[in-house]
Amino acid sequence: MLYEQIVGQTEAKGRLLKMVNESRVPHALLFSGKEGSGNLPAAIAFAQHLYCKNPTPQGACGSCISCNKVSKLIHPDLHFVFPIAKSKDVKSSNDLIKEFREAFLQHPYLSLNDWFNELSAENKQPIIPVEESNDVLRKLSYTSYEGSYKIMIIWQPEKMNAEAANKLLKILEEPPEQTIFILVSTQPDQLLPTIFSRVQQIPFYSCTEKEISEALITNYKVNSEVARQTEMLANGNYGEAVSLLTHNDDSVSFLNNFQSFMRLALKFDCNKALQWIDENAVIGREKQKQFFQYGLEVFRDSLMYNYGDKNLVRLSGQEKLFLEKFAPFITRKNYEILVEEFNNNYYYIERNANPKILFMNLILKTNELINLK
Ligand SMILES: [Zn+2]
Repeated sequence: MLYEQIVGQTEAKGRLLKMVNESRVPHALLFSGKEGSGNLPAAIAFAQHLYCKNPTPQGACGSCISCNKVSKLIHPDLHFVFPIAKSKDVKSSNDLIKEFREAFLQHPYLSLNDWFNELSAENKQPIIPVEESNDVLRKLSYTSYEGSYKIMIIWQPEKMNAEAANKLLKILEEPPEQTIFILVSTQPDQLLPTIFSRVQQIPFYSCTEKEISEALITNYKVNSEVARQTEMLANGNYGEAVSLLTHNDDSVSFLNNFQSFMRLALKFDCNKALQWIDENAVIGREKQKQFFQYGLEVFRDSLMYNYGDKNLVRLSGQEKLFLEKFAPFITRKNYEILVEEFNNNYYYIERNANPKILFMNLILKTNELINLK
């Protein structure tokens, strides 16, 4: 993993580079940032830079033997701790390191949810148990294989239970020599304040719309319209944007689906409505949620188009043409209720509501609202 593979984060990357270039690396760092900010891949890029045999002022070379090992997460001095679902066979991260490597290599921006989906443990509680701290101590008692730093990356340290957290604190208070801890946290406010005070924080921010669109165009060769649609649904979370792209077949067009829905809402036709509902009942919860998010974006842009600054409208291309025709139906009278309806239905879908009943109610309700004079 190289710094240039991390989307945005110019400030954080600059700080990390400076630390290595000036050989002033603190013994404990906290990479804090929301999901999709890239703090986990950045931790790997940082480790790779530290271990690289031929580093440049811009970071690791990407091709030496150490770079090779780090990029596969198999460098012997690089250790990982991450949340697990405890079971008879799984007591600590060690038992799942192979799965973790695979998940990360496939999707370096993976979220805790993605990780638990990989483990088919969606309904279990992610935890870093106390056994893990004993493992950490054991690993740190070895001398390093390659004679330099040992690096311990702790992903989601907020999932440590109290006992594990206290043990980690003791280690951070008297850090072993030549060891660097990188805590990679999405909820740093849940860490013990005493741990917080022992680490140097490097904040990671949500990616900007432009950064996400550009990265999608470069890395996934999508056109600018698809990039923008995806970015709009991802809310500054690059990992989510990638998931949306890779889990979606290209034929699914948010716009087409929304247009069909709105046509039904404008002029209710029972047979066509039932057909639309049948099709959309089976697309899966994630895509159903995306439908509501997309609708909310269109409502917002319609309002902006009608009453605000037309330059602030985000839709473009084909979508903008649709908006020009659709916007007049969104008025001060129905905007708020429509937004509330779409938000509520997003929430219900998330909690496993029956999509057929929900969509039928929504078509009828939208029909009433959209024809409100
Ligand atoms: Zn290298």
